[in-house]
Amino acid sequence: MPCSPKKGPGGIDCEAGGISAGLSEKTLRLLLEAMEITADGIGIFDPDDRLIFSNSANAALFGLTPQQAQGKTFEELVRHCYREHVGINIETDDIEQWLAMAHQKRRRHRYRSFQTDMLDGRWVQLTEQLTEGGEMFTFFTDITEQKRIERKLERLTAKLSTQANTDDLTGINNRRNFLRLAQQEVSRCRRAGRDCALLVIDVDFFKLVNDEYGHQVGDCVLCNITAALSKELREYDVLGRLGGEEFAALIPENGTVQALEVAERLRKAVVSIDHGEVCDGLRPTISVGLAVSEGAGIALDWLISRADQALYRAKNAGRNCCVLWSDAGN
Ligand code: GH3
Ligand code: MG
Ligand code: MG
Repeated sequence: MPCSPKKGPGGIDCEAGGISAGLSEKTLRLLLEAMEITADGIGIFDPDDRLIFSNSANAALFGLTPQQAQGKTFEELVRHCYREHVGINIETDDIEQWLAMAHQKRRRHRYRSFQTDMLDGRWVQLTEQLTEGGEMFTFFTDITEQKRIERKLERLTAKLSTQANTDDLTGINNRRNFLRLAQQEVSRCRRAGRDCALLVIDVDFFKLVNDEYGHQVGDCVLCNITAALSKELREYDVLGRLGGEEFAALIPENGTVQALEVAERLRKAVVSIDHGEVCDGLRPTISVGLAVSEGAGIALDWLISRADQALYRAKNAGRNCCVLWSDAGN
């Protein structure tokens, strides 16, 4: 449908769907000037992938001036960057392989947009637009600041996530994260038809440590105990501080015999800790309550509640000992 010309911004004659021919010389000069002074990169490659137009920002992408870049193919421009160590960051030991991969993506779609970094530390968002005739317009805009903020946010998110999952004093899993990880392990063991054990560990007469030596020494003792427990456990065991002077460990893929062995090892390790001169040869002990899953259907809540009952028995039995929950004993 024919459409009468309309006046667009800057006095440019526009038709529906595009800018018409017949721009004044002055307008053309201004357009070229605008393309030159913008910090955004503008380039045009011909159907043979040879650069036939480039503003300064675009040429700088390849570490060249527009005059130097003019007439070079995309491949020549990339090889120049790689050889001279300028412009875009080409992270490879094999430039041929890099180019082969670039060619697999280049000119495959009418429109493509991606991000890339440069050797001077800048990041750009690059857009490629193919015409019907095979020319390719490339545009880029500097996104360094956006990337910096993105990175900062990522670091902050990671830090917050660590903080949300970690016990401040001891650096191990806090209650919330322990329960989350323990639940995962219990479910995994259940699916695999393997047993797992839960240990609830409580420091004996810990209040006396605080009363005798002060809260700070108490904190230090809790950290020493944590280190001793961590050292005795395997990488895939889950250790957490439930709160106060109470810890828990989920020991996956272990039955009663092994779980009792682990508990006993932990108990001995705590007795053997040298807490240093500040505590006057103090030897705090732990009591451990254990519960072991027996085949399918055992839930984490079940294990915790049984291990708690066993811990209660260990305390009543005189402390500094490990007690396994059993129907008969509880
Ligand atoms: P029991 O053998 O029966 O477990 O006796 P206990 O003294 O260990 O138990 P109780 O529950 O009476 O006291 C626990 C103490 O742990 C009291 C509390 O002040 C102390 N505590 C809890 N959290 C911390 C902490 O983060 N740092 C220090 N220093 N002490 C803590
Ligand atoms: Mg205690
Ligand atoms: Mg307690």
